[in-house]
Amino acid sequence: MKMSDLTCPSCSASYEVAESISAKGNPGHAQCAICGAMLASWQDSKLRAYRLVLAPEHKYSSVPVPPSPGC
Ligand SMILES: [Zn+2]
Repeated sequence: MKMSDLTCPSCSASYEVAESISAKGNPGHAQCAICGAMLASWQDSKLRAYRLVLAPEHKYSSVPVPPSPGC
């Protein structure tokens, strides 16, 4: 499993991309869940999963960030 990060070029939402090397998938495409922009498309038979990790509005909110757990 190969992990990478992707940012929507349209609305700056952050995505985590999981790409499986062993599992077979189908050609397809990924669209932004927030604004619907095309994030990526592929023609090979790799299995890819896009997960929204940070909605763009969170970047600009004034909500205090909780301290990191595990200290
Ligand atoms: Zn977007």
